[in-house]
Amino acid sequence: MQEIIRIKNLKKYFPIHRGVLKRVVGAIQAVDDVSFAIGKSQTFGLVGESGSGKSTVGRTILKLLEPTAGTILFKGQDISRWDKNATRKLRREMQIIFQDPNASLHPRMRIGSIIKRAMVVNRIHPGAGINDHVMELIRRVGLSEQHYNRYPHELSGGQQQRVGIARALAVNPSFVVLDEPTSALDVSVQAQILNLLKELQKDFNLTSLFISHDLSVIDHICDRIAVMYAGQIVEMADRDSLFNRPLHPYTRSLLSAIAEVGKDRADGRIILQGEIPSPENPPPGCRFHPRCFMRTEGCDHDPPPFRQVEDGHFVACHLI
Ligand code: SF4
Repeated sequence: MQEIIRIKNLKKYFPIHRGVLKRVVGAIQAVDDVSFAIGKSQTFGLVGESGSGKSTVGRTILKLLEPTAGTILFKGQDISRWDKNATRKLRREMQIIFQDPNASLHPRMRIGSIIKRAMVVNRIHPGAGINDHVMELIRRVGLSEQHYNRYPHELSGGQQQRVGIARALAVNPSFVVLDEPTSALDVSVQAQILNLLKELQKDFNLTSLFISHDLSVIDHICDRIAVMYAGQIVEMADRDSLFNRPLHPYTRSLLSAIAEVGKDRADGRIILQGEIPSPENPPPGCRFHPRCFMRTEGCDHDPPPFRQVEDGHFVACHLI
């Protein structure tokens, strides 16, 4: 399968400044040594609690944040050290759909103009047919012609997110980051948007990184999944392997929280104690050890290696 994205040993640290002289006294290790690849037409899910670093991974791949270390390959090209000018060329190829659709749409522009502007800025002009093309996209995301001249505030949250999706698709991207695209929406609307995204992925042959804190959302839409904890990937596998045979204690805890009545996963619910650690000062050894129900001697000082334990199934745990 052709690879669209490969990241190798990606790190993103934010310096901590203190005192009058704003001296650097430490670093927030938001992303620490993360590697994965996304094949063409694949939907790769990144899941974890809030503060696990998953959104920072998405923004760093898009070069909205500069990586501290590591490599980002886009279609085989190393874009990690591209400067702003070079990165501008990527904007058309790599799009993002944000969590809060209202904040991401210009409040004084009409819906038709918002979508059209994305095409003009990225020099995509279907000539005189641009308005027809915009209208086609509006219909394709489940809105109607009457929305063309509306302002964002006149739309519901679900409709605004549909506009965000149309705007991203307008430039025909090779890769899309979906950063918690449904978490600000009502549950019933979430399902509609997820179904729409699933249809569009097939129709547009989209390659995407889907970021969510909710494993049931990830289950619905992703082919391959990485579970993040405190800035690192602790488990990565195809959807079926991860949901049918989760190995890492953290993944098992997350899955038991979404267990459905009558399914095996409901048995022996694991209650996750405590909070995700501060990325400023992550625990030594396995970062999950203060909350792990399986921790053993050595977990608090030896970091477990991230290794393949089955075909395509990777995990970082001393006991697996
Ligand atoms: Fe738990 Fe130890 Fe495995 Fe970490 S390495 S997940 S603390 S058992």
